[in-house]
Amino acid sequence: MNRSVPIFKFHAKDPANRHMGFIEFNNEKFWIYDLNKFYGELGYTHEMQLDGVMPDEYVWDTFVRHKATRNCQSCYQLHIISFLFKYSAVFYQKHGHEGGDWLASEAEKRAACRVEHCRDRK
Ligand SMILES: [Zn+2]
Repeated sequence: MNRSVPIFKFHAKDPANRHMGFIEFNNEKFWIYDLNKFYGELGYTHEMQLDGVMPDEYVWDTFVRHKATRNCQSCYQLHIISFLFKYSAVFYQKHGHEGGDWLASEAEKRAACRVEHCRDRK
């Protein structure tokens, strides 16, 4: 089984289409038609919205900000891959098989997340 998992990158806005985000890996691009669903998958809640926390702010604070000292990339990557599995038919069609391995591999890493201040696992 190939356990090497590509790095998935999230973009909140496509320069050509500002209403859609996308996920990119290995030079492939997968559209996010409903950004709210994506943020929900990452753990963003309606309560946070009521508290005035912007979704991009949540993503930054939870998964990106302290990258050097509290790298939570496996938590982040797992959510992104799960999202693609659930909502991208194109992804499922192209990568459904190996995607299962990627998901399992990231889930393992996430379960072993020892990042002291991991906000995603609190
Ligand atoms: Zn974590």
